[in-house]
Amino acid sequence: MTATVSTADTGRNAMSKSEALTSDTVSAPPAHAVDIGGGHMIEFVEYKGDTAGITDWHRKPDGAWCRGWVSFNGSEWGKNFPGNGWDVAQREPLTLTPSLLCRVCGDHGFITNGRWVKA
Ligand SMILES: [Zn+2]
Repeated sequence: MTATVSTADTGRNAMSKSEALTSDTVSAPPAHAVDIGGGHMIEFVEYKGDTAGITDWHRKPDGAWCRGWVSFNGSEWGKNFPGNGWDVAQREPLTLTPSLLCRVCGDHGFITNGRWVKA
């Protein structure tokens, strides 16, 4: 359910911990993914009854779906990987810091007030 996303501003790599979760069997966002605009869909991922983070779906220049895993600092999942996740500045509507940079396709932007804001 995950792929590679890191933060441009800090250079932190969010994926070193989550490669075990990576699966290539899903090629499009699930029906419950939320459209946040800018061609981005986010899927909330649960872990031990808590929100571990989101999978950020977006399209590559060739139109194919790309995705990245974004863990939440302080979540039950994130506690296993201190310092590797994103800070949830606001849960609803969602605001994350810092920005999201996809290491696969280079897509870069922010999730602010539940919307995708291109960097
Ligand atoms: Zn990408």
